[in-house]
Amino acid sequence: MEKSFAILEGDGIGPEIMGEAIKVLKAVEDKYGHNFKLVYAPFGASAYFTHGSPFPEKTKNVCDEADFIIKGPVGLAVEEMHQIPQEHRPEHAAILPLRRRYDTFANFRPVKLPAGLKSFSPLKEEVIGKGIDILMIRELVGGIYFGDKIEGAATGMKFARDDCVYTDKDVRRVAIVAFEEARKRKARLTNVHKANVLATARFWREIVEAVAEDYPDVPYQSVLVDNAAFQLVVNPTQFNGVMLLENMQGDILTDQAGGIIGSLGLMPSACIGPEKGYVEPAHGSAPDIAGKNTANPYSMIGSVAMLFEECLGIPEEARDIWHSIFQIFEEGFITRDLVSPWQSNKKVINTSDFGDRVVQKVLKA
Ligand code: NAD
Repeated sequence: MEKSFAILEGDGIGPEIMGEAIKVLKAVEDKYGHNFKLVYAPFGASAYFTHGSPFPEKTKNVCDEADFIIKGPVGLAVEEMHQIPQEHRPEHAAILPLRRRYDTFANFRPVKLPAGLKSFSPLKEEVIGKGIDILMIRELVGGIYFGDKIEGAATGMKFARDDCVYTDKDVRRVAIVAFEEARKRKARLTNVHKANVLATARFWREIVEAVAEDYPDVPYQSVLVDNAAFQLVVNPTQFNGVMLLENMQGDILTDQAGGIIGSLGLMPSACIGPEKGYVEPAHGSAPDIAGKNTANPYSMIGSVAMLFEECLGIPEEARDIWHSIFQIFEEGFITRDLVSPWQSNKKVINTSDFGDRVVQKVLKA
């Protein structure tokens, strides 16, 4: 297969974990005889400092020309954000425009913790039971993140307003993707919302339930987002299957899911649009550990596996990667983020060692 990829390393731990993911991608390319063209382009806070924009025109052209985009995390530490004017901050001026540009409306965030790796979770082993296997699907280009943002003053009072808007097309298309995934997995779909308070959520629920009628074979349940947050901690496996979430609620609950399985470093993702998509870790740039070769590259390597299975339709290559990663964990190796008092028998490896081990295993698989 011949494909071209735009590589956006991003900020913080981005270049470190991207380096490991690219090693793995090249191992798969060699092993299966693919021909992958990689074009690196600046993106994020580092791009603002070197090019005056977190999403420079040159990068837009590289992304337009590529078949898919492989993106690392972006952003500065909260206490350093003042170095970049609000209108040039990467979240606002790079991530959201990237999503809008390619209309990447469906964000797949798998939350996987096999029973054999229960000890990664801060929850009791009995709570993890047979293992967690949830595909969280987050709507990614609508809702409050994309609505008008207004800060002003009226009748002597200062105010700020963020508008939350969903159209029927926005909800319907992501609901269809989620039901199709649930059908493929022969699994239940849980629709998360806040329909007891928000008009947009009532609208969301009505449309999702209309789509559900076309999928009578897919078991369906609906849950309020606050209850979902609670239930995810006390009994996460009840959600094994697909969870469908709107944009902001999905942003928050997927980070909570990372906590439940033990680390945000275990959270890869794929952002799917009508024509083009991109993959990225679900977490941020982790400035607190950047440059130390201690980050967990699973999230970035797993994102490459998702590129193969969700975007390119080459699941065998993806299976090689997943199998290799889980073998490393089963052999007792972990990265620093997974260290905890109840995991003292594990062997801690660094970012590049983890990547090297995945490469060796992929080549042998
Ligand atoms: P974060 O997700 O970067 O980090 C939260 C915690 O998780 C930190 O303790 C970090 O060390 C740890 N962590 C995250 N990924 C890890 C990995 N692969 N291995 C080991 N530990 C890992 O959240 P934050 O510190 O609040 O945000 C930092 C920056 O990232 C901010 O500028 C934020 O806006 C940005 N951000 C970007 C994205 C994105 O690029 N899509 C997403 C979320 C946050």
